[in-house]
Amino acid sequence: MQECTPPTPAIQAPTPPQQVGPQSIHSLYLHVPFCFHKCHYCDFYSLVEPKDKPDRQDQFTDALIAELNHLANQHTLKPKTIFVGGGTPTLLRTNLWSRLLESMQQLGLLDNLTEFTVEANPETVTPDLIHTLAAGGVNRISLGAQSFNTDQLKTLERWHDPDSVPKAVDMLADAGITNFNLDLIFAIPHQTLDQLDQDLDAALALNPTHLSCYSLIFEPNTPLTQKMKMGRISPVGEELEKQMYAHIIQRLDNEGFEHYEISNWARRNSGIEDQESGIEEDQISTSPNAVSERSEAAGALQNTAPSNPGPSPPNSAPSAQHSDLSPSPDTRHPIPDTRSLRCQHNMAYWTNQNWLGLGPAAASHLNGKRWKNLPNLGKYIQHAPTPPTTDHEQLPPKQHIGELIMLGLRLRQGLTLNWINQHIPQNDPRQTTINELIDIHMLERTHTHLRLTPQGLFLADSIIAKLL
Ligand code: SF4
Repeated sequence: MQECTPPTPAIQAPTPPQQVGPQSIHSLYLHVPFCFHKCHYCDFYSLVEPKDKPDRQDQFTDALIAELNHLANQHTLKPKTIFVGGGTPTLLRTNLWSRLLESMQQLGLLDNLTEFTVEANPETVTPDLIHTLAAGGVNRISLGAQSFNTDQLKTLERWHDPDSVPKAVDMLADAGITNFNLDLIFAIPHQTLDQLDQDLDAALALNPTHLSCYSLIFEPNTPLTQKMKMGRISPVGEELEKQMYAHIIQRLDNEGFEHYEISNWARRNSGIEDQESGIEEDQISTSPNAVSERSEAAGALQNTAPSNPGPSPPNSAPSAQHSDLSPSPDTRHPIPDTRSLRCQHNMAYWTNQNWLGLGPAAASHLNGKRWKNLPNLGKYIQHAPTPPTTDHEQLPPKQHIGELIMLGLRLRQGLTLNWINQHIPQNDPRQTTINELIDIHMLERTHTHLRLTPQGLFLADSIIAKLL
């Protein structure tokens, strides 16, 4: 699914999360690794189980519940947000979902929850499953629509019928879930601006509360990239990709959506967004952190729309550096306001909160330290409830601040000037770079914030790379 980023880990000796002292956990991510087919652009950790063998869904669910219980013994788990991604979480059988949700309830994980999202492939949604999810506390669904054009779905080797999306939305409404996201991909080979607009028409007709629109990325070692190398398909041109991104921004603004992150839009909700647009000085604590993103570290500005940004959530983590999990100072941004229709779970990533990831390939972040579960379902089941981990990292302070800048600038509100003054010394070359980027109108200072300009949005990856 779109919100997941792929693992490319170097396996290290496990440094299990249980070595971290009890922590305040803002968010939980659960990774369900099963898919019924591998989409050709996808490099997320997901498996298509052979049809001629018993699948491992039961064993996986047992292991996931065991990991949940284990972590609940280590930490005070009263999350504000839970996100179940994949893979295809809606491929998990309904009876297994019932077991999982019951365990979560028994552990008190739902007590403080404001947002509980499950990613869904429209083809796998059934009334029975959705009612089970809704009864179990799920209040938000993220549907992987990607496109409503059969040719473009075919190019992506995305196996669903466009009609399955409105059918799934009807099932959500029947179960009382009206808060849902639609994922869309643009800049698909052969896609025209008109076709993109038709995708937006179809998406908006379903009245989503949230849209995630990502430009197609040709990830290494995917069938799509192989086809490109063989000359069977070509990426859309850079200029058209920019036009598409500009069109999405304009159209969704006209349609009443708040563009709150480079690739994410939330339906405006009575002006709440304006109230929460600031990161106040006294709300900034002091603790390193960072979320890994798949941003390319280009040295020079490149003329391109921003690449697939996602919050690089929990099944992603950068290469291993450190395994010291001792407490460290806090530079987190404040916990986001939960009244808007922004994805609160992803806001937790972008504002550098603590989260734990469960399931194979799921990444965790606690007070600036990151690691991930090994992307290997067999080992995950075998070693339950303490799966092998990899990619332990704690960034050195300078890089850590760079990561926080990257996260902050991805949000349209940007970074507060106070935060910048506190964390970037005047003699840091980045202060000079910021001024240069302001001079060429790529960044702008408001009274309270530093943020990308509308022009800067199109060069976001390159601008951010200069400040890492
Ligand atoms: S459904 Fe999502 S996770 Fe599964 S193969 Fe397709 S893009 Fe990857």
